[in-house]
This record gives sequence, C-alpha cells and structure tokens, in this order.
Amino acid sequence: MRYYGDIYRAPSEAESLLLQITIGCSHNRCTFCYMYKNKSFRIRPLEEIREDIRLARAAYPSVRRVFLIDGDALVVPTAYLSELLDHINEVFPECERTGLSATAADILRKSPQELSMLRSKGLKIIYMGVESGSDAVLKRVCKGSDAAALVQAGVRVRDAGIALSVSVIAGLGGVQRSHEHALKTAEVLNAIQPEFVGLLSLLLHEDAPIRREVEAGTLTLLESRATLQEIRLLVEALELEATVFRANHASNYAPLKAYLPEEKKRLLDEIDRLLLLRSPVRSDHMRRL
Ligand code: SF4
Repeated sequence: MRYYGDIYRAPSEAESLLLQITIGCSHNRCTFCYMYKNKSFRIRPLEEIREDIRLARAAYPSVRRVFLIDGDALVVPTAYLSELLDHINEVFPECERTGLSATAADILRKSPQELSMLRSKGLKIIYMGVESGSDAVLKRVCKGSDAAALVQAGVRVRDAGIALSVSVIAGLGGVQRSHEHALKTAEVLNAIQPEFVGLLSLLLHEDAPIRREVEAGTLTLLESRATLQEIRLLVEALELEATVFRANHASNYAPLKAYLPEEKKRLLDEIDRLLLLRSPVRSDHMRRL
C-alpha cells in the first residue's frame, strides 16, 4: 500500500484496510491537534485509489472492513465517494463496513438523502470529533463548529442509519473551564445519542498550537485527579440510551469501558475507586506512549 506521511486511525479500525483518499485535513486548525500540521491538504485522484485497491486485493485474501483516511475523508464530493464505494463493493465483495472521519461541516454539506445513499453503498460508520460541548472551548480551540452544528451533524448521521462514533477530550477546557466543559459536553452527547463515545485526555504534543497557551499561562492543564473528577462529572450528566463509552486511547490516565445506560453506576464506582488511588494508573510519561 502507498501512504503519504504519517497516518492515523481510530483504535477500533485496527483490523481495517486503510485507504488514503485525502492527504491531511481540510480544516487543520484545531489547536490541540498535531496530526496533519505538516501536510498540505489535497484529494487524491480516484485512479490512484483504484490502483491502491488493486494492490490491496492482491495482498489480502479477506478485507472485511475499509477505513478511508486522512483526517476528514468525508470532505470529498459525494459523486467521488459514491463511485469509490461501488468499486470497494465490486473488488471486496466480503467487505462488511466502510468508515471514515468527518468534521461537522463535512457532514452538513451532505444532504440527508446523500448520506442515506452512501449508507446504502456501505458507508456504515462515521467518526466525528466533538471534543467539547462548550461553545467557548470550541471557539478557543478553533474547532470550526459550535455545539449546535455538532448536534445537527451528529443527528443527521444517525438519521441516515449510519453509526456514529464521537470523540471528546477531557481537560480541553483547562482548569478555567473544566466544569462547563464537562456539563456542556454531556448536553451535546445527550442530544446526539451516538452509538460510540471515545474519550481522550488532553496531551500536549510539541507540534500542537495549544502548547503556546499553556506556556503563556492562559490555559492551566488539569492534573490527573482533576481530569478524573471532570470525567466523573461528565459521566454523571450523561443520559445515553444505547452507547458504548470507551476511554481506551493511550492519552487517558486509566482505561475505562461501559455500556450505557446499563453500566453507568459501575462506571462511576470505577472512577471513584481510581480517585482513591495515590497515583493514576498511567503516569504522564506512560500516557505519551
Ligand atoms: S482534530 Fe480533526 S478536524 Fe481538527 S485539525 Fe485534527 S484532523 Fe482536522
């Protein structure tokens, strides 16, 4: 397979064939994100992707899942994606699911009918970064969407019958907005009712612009205990009806997983137990691995 630059995928796409249909992220402004800062955004021609698919078919006897990368692959025109999904179905008849990541703006540029059509051709899961439900935090980190747009986009995906996995970042509001960040994020998640929530905890990468705010003293990072307290506040405020909640990313101080709402009490008890420990399960050094 041919890949340009560093590539990233969701933990749950570990078994998927990664097809790089875009280079970088069309937004590329989120201050906490370092992943595509050194890439100039472009859409790869379909002919190149067809060649990648041909190479993959020759290399892999079974391709059950395909994940389209880079950062916000849904930015491509609907006709491009439709043709690509047809080709994936033709070459990999065993494929059960194609997924990709999208910004709220990418989703809202697609009509409900377009999303339903893409679903019928195999687009079964979309990953969307919510990160926070606080408009103040979203604006400060240059997310490019406010809470209302995130809710509208999330609901549109779900209404199209496409599974939705959203990410949120504990600590993104710093000490200054921790309480607001937790409660407003719960509000957005409750309004969207995503199938999956992936929780990360803020990590400062050397290439992430948010580092400058910390160095300037305008953003105070949460320490481990305060991060867990913020997560507890978030979980307590969640009113999710059928969601897998996971904190399995290496950025977290401790791995957590629960089916909500059934396991909400167990999850809160687990966080309470972690809060009693003298030190977090993962040290800051280990979180960076
Ligand atoms: S967080 Fe997502 S939308 Fe924001 S810059 Fe990174 S890849 Fe792009």
